[in-house]
Formats: sequence, C-alpha cells, structure tokens
Amino acid sequence: MITTTQTTPLTPAQQKRKIVLAHGGGGQLTDELIDSIVLPRLGNQVLTDLLDSAVLNQNGRQFAMTTDSFVVQPLFFPGADIGRLAVCGTINDLAVSGAKPMGLSLGMILAEGLEKKVLEQVIDSIAQAANEAGVQIVTGDTKVVGSHQADGIYLTTTGVGLIDKPNQLHPEKVQPGDVIIINGPIADHGLAVMLAREMPQVESVLKSDAAPLNHLIESVTSQTDGVVFMRDPTRSGVTGVVVELAQRSNYHIILNESNLPLRPETQHAADMLGLDPLEVANEGKVIMVVRGKEEKKVLDLLNQHPLGKEACVIGHVESDKDAICELHTIMGGQRILQKPYGEQLPRIC
Ligand code: MG
Repeated sequence: MITTTQTTPLTPAQQKRKIVLAHGGGGQLTDELIDSIVLPRLGNQVLTDLLDSAVLNQNGRQFAMTTDSFVVQPLFFPGADIGRLAVCGTINDLAVSGAKPMGLSLGMILAEGLEKKVLEQVIDSIAQAANEAGVQIVTGDTKVVGSHQADGIYLTTTGVGLIDKPNQLHPEKVQPGDVIIINGPIADHGLAVMLAREMPQVESVLKSDAAPLNHLIESVTSQTDGVVFMRDPTRSGVTGVVVELAQRSNYHIILNESNLPLRPETQHAADMLGLDPLEVANEGKVIMVVRGKEEKKVLDLLNQHPLGKEACVIGHVESDKDAICELHTIMGGQRILQKPYGEQLPRIC
C-alpha cells in the first residue's frame, strides 16, 4: 500500500469538514475545493478560466503569470529534485500558455535543522534548470519554521512571461478533426518519485522526466499556427488533461492506448504499485491539440528537438458534442475516462 507522510487517517465525517491529502491531488477533489471555497470568494474573469497561466492585457500587450508550490517527498529522486521541479513546473505552465518566460521568483520555506549542504544542492539544481530554460530567478523570499512544522524544504515559484503573438490558445478553439500529440513517454516522473519513496532499497532505472519545455514549444509555435491548445499533464496525468479538454471543448475525444508512448520499465513499476500510468504525473511532457492539416509539420518540428524525439499522435477530436473522452484500449475495448477522484500519488510535486 502506498504510504504518505500523514499517518492519522480521518473518518468520513471529518473528511467532509477537513482538508485531506487528496485535495492536493489535482483530481475531482481539488476541483471541488477550488469551486466551493476559492472561486466563490476570489473568482474573476481571469482566475475563473483556470488555465495554466493567467493572461493579463496591458497597453495592448499580453503577459502570462503563473505560480506553483512544491512539497515533493523525498527531496531528491532519480532524474531530478525539488529544485529542478520548481523551475520546470513554472516554466512549463508559462510555455504551454504561449508565453516566453521573463523571470521567476523563488519562495522558500525551510525547516529548522535542515543541513545547509542540502539547501546548496537544491539551489544548484535550481540554477542548472533555470540556465537550461534561459531564465533567471529575479526575486525571492525565505522563511524558516520549527523542525516539526515542515519537511525539509517547500518551494514556491512564480513566473511572468511575454506573449508575442495574440494568444489564441484555449480549449474553446478545439474543433473536430484536430489531433492530440504528446512529446514522449508518459508517467516517468510520478513513478520515479513513488519508487524512491516506497522502495528506496530498490535500484530503479526509472528517472523523472522533469525538463523545461519552453525551447521545444517555441520551436513549434514559432513556425506554425496549427497549435490551438496546450497543457502539461502533471497531477492527474494524461487522463486529467484529455478529460478536461473534452469537458471544456464539449466535443467527443478518442484516445488510443496503443499509441501512448510508455516505457516497459515504467509499465512494470505502475503494475507493481497498482497505478494507472495514464493518471500518473509527468513534468517534462506537453499535450498539444493541433489542426489535422498541421499534424505532420508539428511532429517533424517536435522530432527535431531532443525533448520531442518520441513525439506521436495519441488521439483526435470527433464531431459529437457529448464532452466525453473515450479510451480505445490495446485489447480492442472502449472505456470512458474520468478525472481521478482524489490522490493516488500524494506529494509527487
Ligand atoms: Mg500545468
């Protein structure tokens, strides 16, 4: 059974009144929390769109702004650590919104007793990832809490970006005939973290895919207007993105399981942990919805970049207006996909 850092289970009655880990999972329970508590109090035209970045208009120019907090455990895992994750997560939310990153902020909450060596390692990793993305950390904040009041380090990164072309990226732009493309194998991040946490004694070949995608995305969007929507499949995975896409576009979406890129070792890890790779978080993947006539061009452009070598088409949009996403399975079956309810993978980002 997958463990968490919280050890006292709440009764069903308490769960109705209190925050549970699953409220942070990016699934139906997170949506419920945002819809019932946050939006009624803070909702406005920009926030209520709930996209990866807010798009702000100023003197005829468009800017994107986004923020993310990181509480991953353990702090270090194969392929990445909390620092790399904090940069990539925010850069990717800007990039999928069609923005070029201008600068990042870094908020740190540190627990008393943390080894300075650990902090140095995390900051080195932040510097490395920011360098890869071609962005700088331009402001920040540091707070320290008691040793039992936090686990080592929590980070918050906020990013601001400039949108060059008037932004056309929106789920409402999606049309029948559009194809759904992903830039490479799924589920590596979530499973690499879970294996590091649950089975630290096992030496695994799985590595987190955490990577800044801004250069890859720009290599496509600078050469075609065929991309109509993008999202990075982080918490709640590919399923979360395609289900939401069906709901927000109102069209029927078909996802082909046999086309989904998935490494055998990742499938094996998912089987061991009893997880569906479609619902597992990625941190270096983008899902693009592309006009059918631009499919080949977009795939060619993605394939030219190291982070897009294994890009492929995984589904398409049909004309039925039922807002349903249907998975065509490898075995020839069909099933309706639903956003995961709660949290199958706590604290993976
Ligand atoms: Mg995102």
